[in-house]
Amino acid sequence: MDEMAKFGFGFMRLPEIEGADGEMHIDIDQAKEMVDIFMDAGFTYFDTARRYHFGKSEAALKEALVDRYPRDSFQLASKLPAWVAKGPDEARAMFDASLDQTSAGYFDFFLMHNLGEYRTKAFDEYGIWDFLFQKKEDGLIRKLGLSFHDNAAALEAVLDSHRPLDFVQLQINFADWENSLIESRKCYEVARARNLPVVIMEPLKGGSLVHLPAAAVEVLREANPEVPLASWGLRFAASLPGVLTVLSGMSTADQVRENTRIMTSLGPLNEQERVALEQARAILASVPTVPCTSCGYCVEGCPEGVRIPSALYALNIMTLFDDMPMASHEYDWRTAGGRASSCIECGACELACPQHIEVMKELARAAELFE
Ligand code: SF4
Ligand code: SF4
Repeated sequence: MDEMAKFGFGFMRLPEIEGADGEMHIDIDQAKEMVDIFMDAGFTYFDTARRYHFGKSEAALKEALVDRYPRDSFQLASKLPAWVAKGPDEARAMFDASLDQTSAGYFDFFLMHNLGEYRTKAFDEYGIWDFLFQKKEDGLIRKLGLSFHDNAAALEAVLDSHRPLDFVQLQINFADWENSLIESRKCYEVARARNLPVVIMEPLKGGSLVHLPAAAVEVLREANPEVPLASWGLRFAASLPGVLTVLSGMSTADQVRENTRIMTSLGPLNEQERVALEQARAILASVPTVPCTSCGYCVEGCPEGVRIPSALYALNIMTLFDDMPMASHEYDWRTAGGRASSCIECGACELACPQHIEVMKELARAAELFE
């Protein structure tokens, strides 16, 4: 049997709990439990970023992992988003801030975060490539790479105009494999043609690939009734050659339990399962859902605090299951702190969205449907 890729824990959608101040905070006790389950299952790769979980992910990772396990028992990845800085000093200072917040001492993997579109040029203008190669020479980075949200031609241009990296991190899942905006397959092939190991993000598309239309579920269940729905996306990604690690941004202890079980007990997809997954992909592609991955980038710059991913999630529930009570219930509790109707159409979210979603139009639809 072929090997499955390794499994990584993405610290981007951590569980939350209401604090004494009435605000939502990372549920650090549950995060610790999740880390323990993950490590007990034999997995050791953790992926964070300065911007994950509203800038609090790195500190949470320190508390849940770095402070509790020997440094050589896990691998840690973080990322530098040069495009949010106003100049080179601010961009470079992010590296020390990441080291400080994680207390990691060094990074096993470090990434220039989210290159593509207008974001790429900040890394050149601020000298971040040379700066990070120097950090690697200084022993503070073991493997240097980049994460990317744009098309394959743009990836090719970035890779071919700079010094060789150690790896790339790409958005790859079965739903986006042939998607003309994301170009998962083509981006993967660009990396493979350069012998660059790939770290896969969003193998379950922010969790949406465990909520499939009934017809797609039926096809998959028929091919293999024994396996959980999440296993299809994880195994699709982990079955690809040249993949270093498949990341999952897990939010509950149960998700960690299920996903680690999938990654330890199930092998790569067999031929019959591949055919079924192709059919499920075709069914999914025929349903016009909003391609939101709940990454949260849009939320940080929203002046009105609109709960954008939650509103889009409720829209997708409605589209997939045609169930107004369920979609409406999801909308009510998930957007309580920032309804779609409070959008003032400033457009900041659309500039930040790596999935190119017409957020304002979708929010207007959500407000009309659910409010
Ligand atoms: S367009 Fe609306 S939702 Fe988007 S950032 Fe502006 S106020 Fe927020
Ligand atoms: S709308 Fe775009 S930026 Fe916002 S959470 Fe969804 S995918 Fe991320």
